[in-house]
Amino acid sequence: MTSVEKLIQPHLLTLKPYSSARHEFTGTANIFLDANENPYQTGRNRYPDPFQNEVKKKIAKWRGVATDQIFLGNGSDEAIDLIIRLFCRPGKDEILIPDPTYGMYAVSAQIHNISVNKIPLQKDFELDVEAIFKTIQPNSKILFICSPNNPTGNCMLLDDMVSLIEQFPGIVVIDEAYIDFCPEETMMKYVKQFSNLIILQTFSKAWGLAGIRLGMAFGSSEIISWINKIKPPYNINILTQQAILDAFDNQKQMKKWVENMLQQKAWLTDELAQIPFVKTVYPSKANFILAEMDDAKNRYKELVTKGIVVRDRSNVLLCDECLRFSIGTATENKALINAMNS
Ligand SMILES: *Cc1c(COP(=O)(O)O)cnc(C)c1O
Repeated sequence: MTSVEKLIQPHLLTLKPYSSARHEFTGTANIFLDANENPYQTGRNRYPDPFQNEVKKKIAKWRGVATDQIFLGNGSDEAIDLIIRLFCRPGKDEILIPDPTYGMYAVSAQIHNISVNKIPLQKDFELDVEAIFKTIQPNSKILFICSPNNPTGNCMLLDDMVSLIEQFPGIVVIDEAYIDFCPEETMMKYVKQFSNLIILQTFSKAWGLAGIRLGMAFGSSEIISWINKIKPPYNINILTQQAILDAFDNQKQMKKWVENMLQQKAWLTDELAQIPFVKTVYPSKANFILAEMDDAKNRYKELVTKGIVVRDRSNVLLCDECLRFSIGTATENKALINAMNS
C-alpha cells in the first residue's frame, strides 16, 4: 500500500466508481444515444464533462500543475466534504483544526460523525505548532490550515506549515481561498514535494464568481484520483464550466479587481484606525479586515440600522469584540466609514 492508501477509509479501497455514459465513451462521434438525454439542442440538453477537461487545462496552465493534479468541486466546500469522507472513518477518526478558522471544516466533519479537535492559535494568530504536535493521535487523519486565515486575515508562517506537512502523519489541507490577494504566499510549489498535501483554492473571492460555485483542490495525482472516485459524477454543471472558460478569457478583469480591492483595503485600514471606538485593526492579507471595537454587538446593530451588514465575530476565540469587514467598492467603503463616524 502507498502512504496515501494507508490513510484512506478501508472500505473505499475496493470501491468501483459509478461509470457514467460520458465517462465510458471518450472518442469522437456525431450521434449520442447513450445517456437518455433529450436530443433537441438547447446548449444545455447534454450532461456536462464529468472531469471538466477544458476547464482543467486552463487552470493547469495558470497554476503550473498537471491536469490530473486538479480536482474541481461545487465550491471548495464540496472538496472539504469529499476529503473528509475519503480519509476519516465515522465515529473513529478526527480532524485537527486551528481555532479560530473557517467554519466549514468542523461542520463537514460533524455531518460525517468525525470528531473535531480544535487547537487554539497563538495570541498573534500564528499556529501553535508545538500544541498541534502534542495533540496528534493515531486517529488524527486530517489537519486543516487556512492561510490567509478566515477570520483573522493573516497568513501562517511558511516554516510552521512546512514542518507540519513534513511531520504530520496524515493529510494536511491548506485552504488558500484568499491567495489571489497575496499570490506570493502560495504553497503550490510544495504540492510536487509532499504526497500528503492538498491545497484548496476557489473562484468565489477574487474572481467574483461565488455564485457559480467552483472550488479547486490541488494535490498529487494519486490523491486527486481518489477524490475523483468518490465525487458525484456530474458535480460541475455546464453553466459553471462555461462561466469559468469565459472568466479566463478576461483574466485582466480579475487582476484589476484585486488591485482595486488591495487599494481599498489600505484606505479602509487607515480610516478604521482613526475611529475612536475602534481599538485594533489587524493586518490582513485577504479581502477583509478584522477589527476590535469597544462594543462589537452594539456597533454591529448600529450598522444594520443604517443598512450595512458586516460580520460579527465577537463570539469567536481570540476575536473578543471583533467585527469582520469585507472590502467593498470605494463607494461602499466610504458609506461604511461615514456610518461608523455618525
Ligand atoms: C470563502 C471561503 C471558501 C470558499 O468556499 P467556496 O465553497 O469555494 O465558495 C473556502 N475557504 C475559506 C477559508 C473561505 O473563507
